[in-house]
Amino acid sequence: MSATPSGDPGKENPLNPPKQQTMIYICGECHAESEIKARDPIRCRECGYRIMYKKRTRRCILCNLSMI
Ligand SMILES: [Zn+2]
Repeated sequence: MSATPSGDPGKENPLNPPKQQTMIYICGECHAESEIKARDPIRCRECGYRIMYKKRTRRCILCNLSMI
């Protein structure tokens, strides 16, 4: 009989990767949308402007449709 250890508390959960949030910012100069990751510096990819505004992302698409 071999005793098998139950559970593996030291392992990371592969189903939960570290957060890598990508936010969509809108350039304050040319109003181009740029996807910027949390670690990346905020800068417009089109013109290089460094003042960006967060774009509001709505999870509920149906809510958007009802507003139009
Ligand atoms: Zn720009």
